[in-house]
Amino acid sequence: MTQIRTARFPHPEPLHDKLVLLPVFLPFAGCPGRCVFCDQHAQTGTASMDLEQALRELGERLSLMPGPYGLGFFGGTFTGLDPDWQDRFLKIAGSFRDAGALVHLRVSTRPDRIDPSTLARLRESGVSMVELGVQTFDSQVLERSGRGYDGALAARACEMVRQAGLELGIQLLPGLPGHEPGQWREDVRQTLALKPDVVRIYPCVVMAGTGLADMHARGEYEPWPLETAVTESGWALLRFWEAGVRVIRLGLAGEQGMLSRLVAGPWHPAFGNMARSLAFVYFLEERLRGAQGRVKRIFLPRRFSGELWGHGRANVQALARLGIVKERVEFWSEQDIALEMEE
Ligand code: SF4
Repeated sequence: MTQIRTARFPHPEPLHDKLVLLPVFLPFAGCPGRCVFCDQHAQTGTASMDLEQALRELGERLSLMPGPYGLGFFGGTFTGLDPDWQDRFLKIAGSFRDAGALVHLRVSTRPDRIDPSTLARLRESGVSMVELGVQTFDSQVLERSGRGYDGALAARACEMVRQAGLELGIQLLPGLPGHEPGQWREDVRQTLALKPDVVRIYPCVVMAGTGLADMHARGEYEPWPLETAVTESGWALLRFWEAGVRVIRLGLAGEQGMLSRLVAGPWHPAFGNMARSLAFVYFLEERLRGAQGRVKRIFLPRRFSGELWGHGRANVQALARLGIVKERVEFWSEQDIALEMEE
């Protein structure tokens, strides 16, 4: 006699309250130099950097924002700015925090531009999170990319943020010169060990006018193919989800002007969707490994209907191997996944 067993479980992605995060881009502000891969003007869509103007605009923008919202300073090395400038930006933000509308404040910086007293000052000024542009913990790759610090310093910087009582964000850049998938997976393990609150993954692309573009033109650098970047990001995403770590960005946003400066590399407008849907296939594979019987039906929250089959239906074959075909899939309004197996 046929037996039906049903298992219910949540999607592996950690749930979180959605908060509007207003990004303020200060391209290259405070940076000690130009990193080989970095083209902040194209990536942020922000052309010029006049701190006085940025400060004025910040006050104007915040006065128009309905609360609650978060604010983040990105695109440069916030703690590399003159402390007076840091204070001026944080003071403006602080006045909106005191008024109750601004409920989260974060800054992005480099691992070698923080120390305990800087972090204490940020915390006293109301900063809740520091995002560190770690890129990789592999010292050789960091050296080849001219980052100016090694993996041990990057790890210590992450610990320092935690010890200062601040939330930690880690930005990773898989595919830098000399960075192979094996090193990337080690980066993911090391990142998990540091227990960040959020992670951003930006697979390395070649932008015009950067040092990497010169290396690429000389035949000294080849970015990861798109397929590798999607596979490795999907693998990492599932590891982060399982650990309860939110991945808040996958791939560069296609900002105005960015595409015209993109020379080579694994950029795709649906990159996030591709990696997320693949991570979910990996999740189902792990869930069904060694399971008794075959899939009779699977019920999925409706919000995943655009992701299950993958971009261009890339996941259809992998799902079919698990017994998940169109006729056995239903999208429903529940939040859990339900899997009916028949033996
Ligand atoms: S990667 Fe970071 S530190 Fe390097 S130039 Fe870009 S913003 Fe500055």
